[in-house]
Amino acid sequence: MVLALAGGCAQSPGADLTVSAEFPGGSAEVLAIDSAARRIELAPRCEPGRGWPCWWYARIAGASQGETVTVRVISSRRPHRNAEVLAGRWALPDRAVVSPDDVHWTPTPAGATNSNEVVYSLAAPADPFWIAWGPPCLPAHTETSIEAAARRCAGLERFVLAHTREGREVAAVRLGTPMGPAIWVQARQHAWEVGSSWVARGLLEWASSEDPAAAALRRGAELWLVPIMDVDNVVRGAGGKDAEPRDHNRDWDDAPIYPEVAAAQRRIRTLGAAGRLRLYLDLHQPGWQTQPSYFYGPVEYPHLPAAVRADYDQFLAVAVAAATGPLRILPNYDVVRYVKTEDERARMSRTWVQRHGGPNVVAVTLETRWNLPESTAENYRRLGADLGRAIVRFLGLAVQPP
Ligand SMILES: [Zn+2]
Repeated sequence: MVLALAGGCAQSPGADLTVSAEFPGGSAEVLAIDSAARRIELAPRCEPGRGWPCWWYARIAGASQGETVTVRVISSRRPHRNAEVLAGRWALPDRAVVSPDDVHWTPTPAGATNSNEVVYSLAAPADPFWIAWGPPCLPAHTETSIEAAARRCAGLERFVLAHTREGREVAAVRLGTPMGPAIWVQARQHAWEVGSSWVARGLLEWASSEDPAAAALRRGAELWLVPIMDVDNVVRGAGGKDAEPRDHNRDWDDAPIYPEVAAAQRRIRTLGAAGRLRLYLDLHQPGWQTQPSYFYGPVEYPHLPAAVRADYDQFLAVAVAAATGPLRILPNYDVVRYVKTEDERARMSRTWVQRHGGPNVVAVTLETRWNLPESTAENYRRLGADLGRAIVRFLGLAVQPP
């Protein structure tokens, strides 16, 4: 027998909510789902040995478009290396991003945050929808950027820098003149630092564009660019930073364990030995503080020969001047103070390139802020283009009017 309800009085409860992260780059440990309260609790999935559990990225189904869903994200309490548990707000951006299609991402309203959690209240953009720590950037996305750049720019060469320890391709790009000064740019030695890949994509899009300054760069210099170094951890959705036995940016010695680090070293050594390497730019993202982005320079910066220091100063000055977008750069170099031993400092890529990249290299690390309202994919890309213009000025290349 069917019980008929009086028309219009029945409150239809929402469908059961489900959460999944079983896709490339996905990461979520589902802690609770309360479908009645339209509330989900999750933490980043912790993969011991694979670095800090700070990146998260999940698909949520069962919410109607426009209905309010509460997503509470809690820092993982699981040890990621020995007994170490990640402290701090690395996993807790003030604003997450949501997408109706896993392609187009918009920031959520600011969540309610404390030191261990953040609670986002958001309107579901579709059923299903995706939510993530920041706008995802996977190898498939950088491949799309490379293909588009190659269509715009005839001389662009896509090559495989290396195959990772798990057999994945590390894609890289070379463009410009092989006779000129060389610029090496790489991103994502730490897999969670997704914004660094967006900066790299912005630089690639600009360098392959019709901007007269980009044409000047291609005419007068050679750009090497690796948008994702730690492909394995990016695809696994792991954080990468402080991976065991060491992460990519502690692997730069005479016996690197990561094939992509060894391959980058070989090419950088070759460019340096020819006296061609002029700039090394390692793209990262720093802590959650809401301050401008900044460069790391040499730890011995105050003691560098005056001419070398002037070279570093000139690059910093043109980069700061070029970064006119919402993401600005501090006008002074910082130095890595949290690394306590000379052995560890020597295994950082910036230090290694400074020492092995030949006589003409300026080797710097850019830390692009991710926890500002302005920390969007669009603004990361704009910063990448700004860096391209800065490189042209640093090299003193003549720009011809269109
Ligand atoms: Zn980093």
